[in-house]
Amino acid sequence: MRKKIVAANWKMNLTLAQGEKLVNELLQAGIALDAHKEVVIAVPFPYLITVKELLKGHKGFYVAAQNVAAEKAGAFTGEVNAEMLHSIHTDYVIIGHSERRELFHESNATLAKKMDLALSHGLKPIFCCGEPLDVRKAETQNAFVAKQLEESLFHLSPDQLKHVVVAYEPIWAIGTGLTASAAQAQDMHAFIRKQVAGRYGEAVANDLTILYGGSVKAANATEIFAGADVDGGLVGGASLVAAEFAAIAKAI
Ligand code: PEP
Repeated sequence: MRKKIVAANWKMNLTLAQGEKLVNELLQAGIALDAHKEVVIAVPFPYLITVKELLKGHKGFYVAAQNVAAEKAGAFTGEVNAEMLHSIHTDYVIIGHSERRELFHESNATLAKKMDLALSHGLKPIFCCGEPLDVRKAETQNAFVAKQLEESLFHLSPDQLKHVVVAYEPIWAIGTGLTASAAQAQDMHAFIRKQVAGRYGEAVANDLTILYGGSVKAANATEIFAGADVDGGLVGGASLVAAEFAAIAKAI
């Protein structure tokens, strides 16, 4: 049985005090989790230790970094490497968010390096993929996403892939209020799973958790998560409000 996950991406928002309050509210919101249902909270680097501490003893809650360096260590001022994240017990790391790809020019090749470093240091990557609006309009989104998977993911061994979560996030739906329809999300998730099956076999593909991201909110989560290949969500804006995010988490 593959894992269902709802992940929060706080991006560059909230002070530490606001973040602590939000986490405490989530912990008291009655979200029922187990070995197959997780909540992951991706916070800014300076909050990782504190949030990990707050989550201690709360089954099913995990902390994520929002990024990791593409280099092992050394003279890279301002960067944070995978070993550092592991050393403070970070569980997951988002790799390839569209904001990193677009604003910081991260290529598929750079992201492949980040995947390797994260995995070799015991971090579980949440690998983001997804097409921009012009690609969707031209109806070439499948080829676009297939290339992202091919160039950043498919060099991994089957054993490595078991530790990876994929998040399909159509760029035109991120932070825009536009959401892919439940059918569009399901179609792409099924396509991603088929690509993974072609490369790694059915068993590995069936175990892969694939999240949808793009303006998920309490009002649309149940419908989107109903897709057979949709295993939860990666949530930006709506993750900043405890009641809203808790309702989304309860929808998995
Ligand atoms: C995201 O940041 O990954 C995201 C999906 O943002 P939003 O939910 O705000 O669209």
